[in-house]
Amino acid sequence: MEKQVADGLREVFQSGRSRPLQYRKQQLRALLRLITERQEDIEQALKQDLNRNTYNTSLFELISIENDIKLAESELGDWAAPRPVKKNLNSALDDVYIKPEPLGVVLIIGTWNYPWAMILQPLVGAIAAGNAAVLKPSELSEHSARLMKELLPLYLDKEMYQVVTGGVAETQELLKQRFDHIFYTGSSTVGKLVMEAAAHHLTPVTLELGGKSPCYIDKNCDIAVACRRITWGKFANCGQTCIAPDYILCEPSIQDRIVEEIQKTLLEFYQKDPKSSPDYCRIINTRHFDRVLALMNECTIALGGESDRSQCFIAPTVLKDVLPHFKIMQEEIFGPLLPIVTVNGLNEAIHFINAREKPLALYVFSSDKTVIKRMLTETSSGGVTVNDVLMHYTVDSLPFGGVGNSGMGRYHGRHTFDQLSHHRACLIKSFAMEGLNDARYPPLTAARLRKAKFFMQHRMCSCSGICVWAIIATLLAIGLLVALIVVLTVLI
Ligand code: NAD
Repeated sequence: MEKQVADGLREVFQSGRSRPLQYRKQQLRALLRLITERQEDIEQALKQDLNRNTYNTSLFELISIENDIKLAESELGDWAAPRPVKKNLNSALDDVYIKPEPLGVVLIIGTWNYPWAMILQPLVGAIAAGNAAVLKPSELSEHSARLMKELLPLYLDKEMYQVVTGGVAETQELLKQRFDHIFYTGSSTVGKLVMEAAAHHLTPVTLELGGKSPCYIDKNCDIAVACRRITWGKFANCGQTCIAPDYILCEPSIQDRIVEEIQKTLLEFYQKDPKSSPDYCRIINTRHFDRVLALMNECTIALGGESDRSQCFIAPTVLKDVLPHFKIMQEEIFGPLLPIVTVNGLNEAIHFINAREKPLALYVFSSDKTVIKRMLTETSSGGVTVNDVLMHYTVDSLPFGGVGNSGMGRYHGRHTFDQLSHHRACLIKSFAMEGLNDARYPPLTAARLRKAKFFMQHRMCSCSGICVWAIIATLLAIGLLVALIVVLTVLI
């Protein structure tokens, strides 16, 4: 059955059902009803998957989804409307615009760390853009995946939007089918497999990947506030956040102060025993538990380090004097371990960052504008937040996505709509003014070429042909008026 899922949806898509904006808005409202009416079920599933408490589920997933749905519903008319563009003299009298159009059937593959947001946020854009969609939630967050499969058909048009559950084998089967776009969130390793499979059908991809997001703390900054913000962003969801600060870079002179401030904050956030804190999550499974724990091997533990495999619990842990060649610095941590690597100032920090893959996020804490400016101009990353962490994710007008090894493509708000639309180039001419076209018709001469060059190289504003006709009419009217005045002056 799964083999035909893309073809089945394409048939329904081709019926044109999702073209009217009213239909898309109605589906968006239904999705909003799903996450509001079934919020408790979603929270319960995440409690089982990640030991996530209800407040964190709202803060880290549901608010963003709700926000994206409401924005798409209210702005859809504007987003889907033709977008006039600048013209050249050649097309001055024509209608020239970009028309966002649905792509067709989109495959959305998500991760387990934020299983609802990673599937439903792209879905909001897919619905808004008028596409059909196949959703493949991660098998690792199994309670969420099961619930999603159960709930979606109760709210959305089940012939247009379908959930496929299963693991690697099922995902690979799906990837053999022909989609019109694949939106993948996950690791860079699997991202490459997805792109390889997509190449077979020349399917475009969005790859929302991960990597090691550095966090530079300049000695000229409010270290207490910096550490409070970093502690929140690093240990939320037990460090299993794609844009969590992966490691800290700082000068040796402030390392101990940083450890001290993080310790104070951890006590405030999770009290003495994080294991019994309702705000502290768990590692998704024992495979990841073992992987994360093994990363600590060579390191000096400054804070935390406790673990309990039976609960997939690893305490918030800070590791000091970590060296670049340690295993923990070779791969994305994706867990509650925060290594501190010391560098001798900004130059070395910039060099350290640039010597590695381009990260998904970059954080810099400094009160010095020159430091901030240099960090922004001399490095590259998918996104950046200065003097805080994660927060660029929450601004829906900012494109969210990676660069280089951290991914390709972007989403959130209007960016998801654009990412999952085809931007069709439209030029609408009339049969008038055929004489102007002589410049491009054979037999070509030097004079004709000069004329063609003149018409093709002169840019105009993005106004419509009517606007140009209005200008021509005004000029003719002025000319006629002047002629009339001259004639009258002569006669009188
Ligand atoms: P995962 O193991 O859940 O895999 C993600 C999806 O890929 C799942 O649906 C899974 O079924 C599928 N998959 C796994 N192996 C596959 C294979 N061999 N072939 C085909 N499909 C396969 O999640 P993960 O990869 O462990 O996720 C963690 C990574 O995702 C981290 O690197 C993290 O930074 C990144 N991430 C990125 C973002 C972002 O927005 N950029 C968000 C969340 C997570």
